[in-house]
Amino acid sequence: MRIVKATAMGMCFGVRDALEVARSIENPGDVTIYGELVHNEDVMRELDDRGFHRLGESERGRSIPVTPQIMITAHGICKLERLRLIAAGYRLIDTTCPLVKRAHDAARALEKMGCLVLVIGRRGHVEVDGITGDLRRFEVVESVGEVRRYDERRIGIVCQTTTPPALANEIVDRIRFMNGGSDIQYAATICRPTLDRQAAVRSLLNQVEALVVVGGKKSNNTRQLAEMARNAGKPCALVQGADELDPAWVNQFESIGLTAGTSTPDKIIEDVYRRLLAIAADHEPEPFRQVI
Ligand code: SF4
Repeated sequence: MRIVKATAMGMCFGVRDALEVARSIENPGDVTIYGELVHNEDVMRELDDRGFHRLGESERGRSIPVTPQIMITAHGICKLERLRLIAAGYRLIDTTCPLVKRAHDAARALEKMGCLVLVIGRRGHVEVDGITGDLRRFEVVESVGEVRRYDERRIGIVCQTTTPPALANEIVDRIRFMNGGSDIQYAATICRPTLDRQAAVRSLLNQVEALVVVGGKKSNNTRQLAEMARNAGKPCALVQGADELDPAWVNQFESIGLTAGTSTPDKIIEDVYRRLLAIAADHEPEPFRQVI
């Protein structure tokens, strides 16, 4: 069996930097992590063990942090919420990814230009809530089917940073088609790590029979990678760690591709890779080929 690793995968610099900041904090007991720093249970457990407080994504804005400091995750928050927290006396440790900030800035700039802002992304996702939180006129568009005629002179479009490029293009084309009389501005805010990881998976899917995606079940970009496999008609297993791999499933294939979401630590990817090799070795009596 061949195990082929994606040429780009795993933790992006935004999540890596945020994690580094968290690990460097000397007094975790004084800090509440505002949402999920990474969509990865192992890493979150590590932070819990160090004594960080945590406010779940659904509790943000509803519960009151009990610590003097709040850590903003790479997904970011809107300016209004930031000001509200500062006014309440909290000291913020801000690890918002610069590429998320870029999406916020683009959306606000489009609104200033008089546009209705359309945000392509997942409704209710923390990053999307952060982008829309400072806007007065916006709509979130999740799918091509949701696009309509907006009857606006100017329309501005931004994307959640982890939107699959193919989906974004389809939605943008549909918006243009249905709003022929409008001035339409598109700010391409999909982040480079997402573009690289999705391009690597597209190429991988041409080389293998099935795909293993390593990542948190709540991670948007991890789900997108799995969806790419399903859309290409390839079987896909989404696992959070090596122990979730099913040898019977793995052994059905001659070749398997390996990729991982942007919250997945290198060690977990490596564990899954080694487990795949071990399953393949157990199954094949003859020496198997391994491609890195
Ligand atoms: S996925 Fe992209 S935007 Fe999000 S944290 Fe990573 S680099 Fe930043």
